[in-house]
Amino acid sequence: MGTRLTAQSVPEWKVTYGKDGTYGQRSRLSIQEQRESLPIFRLKKELINAVHDNQALVVIGETGSGKTTQVTQYLAEAGYTTTGKIVCTQPRRVAAESIAKRVAEEFGCRLGEEVGYSIRFDDRTGPETLIKYMTDGMLLREILMDGDLSSYSVVMLDEAHERTIYTDILFGLLKKLIRQRNDLKLIVTSATLDAEKFSGYFFDCNIFTIPGRTFPVEILHTKQPESDYMDAALITVLQIHLTEPEGDILLFLTGQEEIEHACEKLHERMKAFGGDIPELIICPVFSALPIEVQSKIFEPAPPGKRKVVVATNIAEASITIDGIYYVVDPGFAKLNVYNPKLGLDSLVITPISQASAKQRAGRAGRTGPGKCYRLYTESAYCNEMSPTTTPEIQRANLGWMVLNMKAMGINDLLNFDFMDPPARQALISATEQLYSLGALDGEGLLTRLGRKMAEFPQEPPLSKMLLASVDLGCSDEILTIIAMIQTGNIFHRPREKQAQADGKRSNFFQPEGDHLTLLTVYETWKAKGFSGPWCVENFVQVNSLRRAQDVRKQLLEIMDKYKLDVGSAGNNPVKIGKALAAGFFFHAARKDPNGGYRTLADHQQVYIHPSSALFHQQPQWVIYHEIVMTTKEYMREVTAVDPRWLVELAPRFYRSVDPTKINKRKRQERIEPLYDRYSEPNSWRLSKRRW
Ligand code: ADP
Ligand code: MG
Repeated sequence: MGTRLTAQSVPEWKVTYGKDGTYGQRSRLSIQEQRESLPIFRLKKELINAVHDNQALVVIGETGSGKTTQVTQYLAEAGYTTTGKIVCTQPRRVAAESIAKRVAEEFGCRLGEEVGYSIRFDDRTGPETLIKYMTDGMLLREILMDGDLSSYSVVMLDEAHERTIYTDILFGLLKKLIRQRNDLKLIVTSATLDAEKFSGYFFDCNIFTIPGRTFPVEILHTKQPESDYMDAALITVLQIHLTEPEGDILLFLTGQEEIEHACEKLHERMKAFGGDIPELIICPVFSALPIEVQSKIFEPAPPGKRKVVVATNIAEASITIDGIYYVVDPGFAKLNVYNPKLGLDSLVITPISQASAKQRAGRAGRTGPGKCYRLYTESAYCNEMSPTTTPEIQRANLGWMVLNMKAMGINDLLNFDFMDPPARQALISATEQLYSLGALDGEGLLTRLGRKMAEFPQEPPLSKMLLASVDLGCSDEILTIIAMIQTGNIFHRPREKQAQADGKRSNFFQPEGDHLTLLTVYETWKAKGFSGPWCVENFVQVNSLRRAQDVRKQLLEIMDKYKLDVGSAGNNPVKIGKALAAGFFFHAARKDPNGGYRTLADHQQVYIHPSSALFHQQPQWVIYHEIVMTTKEYMREVTAVDPRWLVELAPRFYRSVDPTKINKRKRQERIEPLYDRYSEPNSWRLSKRRW
């Protein structure tokens, strides 16, 4: 990237903008030239030698230096693919997908040939695949099936500093595996300061450093705290666009909804300016976005135009976008946090850490000196933000992790070699949850049901729901419901057409609740021949539905593999309600006479989300899929239930208060008195068992 207009040229900006001629130069470099211009290129030989001489190696280097895209290719060139595949893990599915696409292009093959990717519900690899990008969760699943990872010669744990639960377990498993397999190479890459710690954990292995090429970044903090970071962010972006010299902008927001809203607003405000100002190309980036749309973010803006990338945390380190000179950082991210009070995970908008803030700012200094606009005060940065982000394993629900570790035969979780062990209590709660679901027996060992549950790449309650639906004879519907739940926003609600969109949505409402509403949307779409125009007409997101269709197909394949029946409930919604209760009985709530609902598990106050089909109906007993915390603690995807189903389908959870064993009929008789007990806090608890 060439010279950047200096600040002095601001007044003439409109005239000079884009005449510089150097902007967008990158696109004119051939792929080969681009590869050779990366900082890692000069060190290719040293890197190959280091991998040759060291079984485990930590590699550090600035984001964008070429670690993710180049190391795999260098090792393939050096012959490591003759004995096995090279796998590189990513914490995020979008990153795995987009990087594989890029590397295939560099390698000169089609995606899925020599270079491929494998992410949950989407496998683009083939018999020729030599370099495989995958999410860390998927590699963990492969270890489940092949403990030696015998088809691989090199494992690269990329973005290890992100410290997802999956990466953390892979750490422990690979540490053991490299002692068993001398021929397996392990590379752990990281963009931040964790190198020493990682090296210490992997037997004090060597650290390979790629010297960075960064430019200074001027950091600006707000003088006062911002009450509305969204509005502040939009104003900042437009201010940069109108007053700052050329260079693209990167705005960090927390998730799909915020990003879509921001993009809409930016379009609106740009339109209001009329044609007098240079065009602003607005590029959203979040995981539910189809890959074709995402690749747009890497295209340099044409001369005379500016690009603003509005992204989640993914742009912090996982993907690198060239040409960014301005970063707008509101200081928040959505994190998966386990709430011990609610007994469940929820996505919570949380202040980022200082390490994240530094990383975000650094994104502005890759192509030249940049600026980072922090929408928080310097004092908030120093005093309120923690130095680093807590690893997920120390804050999230561990249900999936415990189930999968048990399925791998790792029963002694308390003594597993974790880099940072999870809290004992979190392990115990997860184990209790799995016991209630019937996945573990009283000794804490995997049951047959638990083994089946581990076959599905999703949270244990969803797998339980699916397996229960097989017995209940409604798996056809439950498959769709699960697929719909896992694909992000189904309904489109543009700001200027909210009423119209809400009207269309309410046409799908089912008296039982949101799960059946989602089913109805899918079924109607199917009846319309999976039509795109139908989606537009009904304010339904076609991309989400297509993904749901895909997820459904993949789940169906697993069901076929294990010969699980796919049967339809016909016109019997009770079967479906029971299957929902079998998986989500923890998430049950009862109407509170004083307003809202109380969760049965912990008596927390929660509310039905205004977008729910049951918002006006407010039935007595409900189960919900998740809690989102915005202005209130809202239940999302809510369905009315008969409380007897809970006792029938989750006897280990809603067992009698009476410790003496009672048979099922008697238990049914005791249901009513039991309900009254629910309203007294702590009148019943999960039994504490031996684990
Ligand atoms: P690192 O892993 O060290 O952060 P990467 O290997 O991801 O670096 O990136 C190296 C270069 O490849 C960057 O300049 C980046 O912009 C470019 N790149 C990565 N993915 C893509 C893509 N999908 N399209 C275009 N360029 C890409
Ligand atoms: Mg990388």
